[in-house]
Amino acid sequence: MTARVLVVDDIKANVKLLEARLSAEYFEIITAYSGPEALSICDEDRIDVILLDVMMPGMDGFEVCERLKANPLTQHIPVVMVTALDTPADRLRGLEVGADDFLTKPVDDVALVTRVKNLTRLKMLTDEMSMRAETGNQMGLSQENIPIFAEKQWNGNILIVEDHPRSAERMTKTLTAQHMVDIEPNPQEALFKLAEQEFDLLIISLDLNGVDGLRLAGQVRSLERTRNLPILIIVSPEDRARLMRGLDMGVNDYMVRPICPNEMMARVNTQIRRKKYTDYLRNCLETRVELAITDALTGLHNRHYLESHLKTLFDEARSTRKNLSVLMTDIDYFKSVNDTYGHDVGDQVLKEFARRIRTNIRGMDLACRIGGEEFVIVMPDTNLTECYNVAERIRKSIEKETFYIPQLEKFLEITTSIGITALDKEVNSLELLIKKADQALYCAKRDGRNRVAADAA
Ligand code: GH3
Ligand code: MG
Ligand code: MG
Repeated sequence: MTARVLVVDDIKANVKLLEARLSAEYFEIITAYSGPEALSICDEDRIDVILLDVMMPGMDGFEVCERLKANPLTQHIPVVMVTALDTPADRLRGLEVGADDFLTKPVDDVALVTRVKNLTRLKMLTDEMSMRAETGNQMGLSQENIPIFAEKQWNGNILIVEDHPRSAERMTKTLTAQHMVDIEPNPQEALFKLAEQEFDLLIISLDLNGVDGLRLAGQVRSLERTRNLPILIIVSPEDRARLMRGLDMGVNDYMVRPICPNEMMARVNTQIRRKKYTDYLRNCLETRVELAITDALTGLHNRHYLESHLKTLFDEARSTRKNLSVLMTDIDYFKSVNDTYGHDVGDQVLKEFARRIRTNIRGMDLACRIGGEEFVIVMPDTNLTECYNVAERIRKSIEKETFYIPQLEKFLEITTSIGITALDKEVNSLELLIKKADQALYCAKRDGRNRVAADAA
């Protein structure tokens, strides 16, 4: 999906110029020639970034920005203020009305493309997060875990590689208002710190004494652990060649000396936000994958996982002529626990039951909850006798110690029946293996429960 950039300026030539440059980078450009026009476009259309001229007759850029940021429907759209007068006061005003970045006229091509790219990426992430929050709502999920990301002031951990004490001090002073800052003059040491601590942003000065900061940027990009860490470089105005090389290497953003504190804060915040959102989304993904393969109540694997993995284990054992055992267990008279004490107590018993199973098997064994109070354990490299020993151990661990239920202040006596089977020459299909375990379990139930039965086929 191409990003849609709205260019706002009262002078047609300026609009056309920005439009031409950004179209060349395959952005989709929408144009407006006044503040009110810009506002109505944002109300009606999806806009990913706004380039907003400050000086316009009638409603100026500050006011447009302020209105956009006050409207819940448009407040997430990043705004870049394009200023002719480049004064610190202008930038401060811009930040006060919620601007996300600044560009000075005449607009530098590299700055333009870098800033727009950074902000569109951020906007895409913000959209993704809102979508998730909405889906979560529709699914009736608790929203407590979804941070209110747009309003949040993120506090980041920043590592600054800079060996000029005065410059380091100025940056620290600005950034510590919101972030944790660590100054490191030596790039080698910085690499060690990055390996040991969690940072959200790396700022590298390219004016280090005797070393090239871009080397560090390259190393950071090539290491697995730091590959996604945002990097911002600080360059001298005459150092254009290295700036370009840095951007080619995947440096996320840059600042040209002398550094304007407000500008630095805005740019740093964009990077840190993006880092936090990406971390958050990556976490969600991991949780989702986890949920897809585990049983939420007991933390054991679920039936789906068993079905997708058992086939591999089965084929592997057959082709290498190794042992493989299957144990199937079902809690005795579990319905009466639910009927007598309620479903919650039943759940507690299931959790404790699963915990005891876990403590009695090896790491390579696959334990799954396949139904209400039915569990399957698949044991690679295990023959029927060994499997029987495990089954007996589990059976006793359930019987021996009663299950304490705190809210009842009661100990419940629980027992379980177990059926076991092992792979042998006659078992030529997975279905048959499972069926044999199931038949053995049925025998254990039939013969009085609280016992282990091996399939007698
Ligand atoms: P048996 O000794 O023959 O296994 O008898 P049983 O009562 O254990 O067997 P049955 O299959 O008739 O009952 C199983 C019960 O497990 C029925 C259902 O109420 C309960 N159950 C199934 N899933 C859950 C669950 O997730 N939580 C709780 N608390 N109970 C569940
Ligand atoms: Mg049962
Ligand atoms: Mg049952």
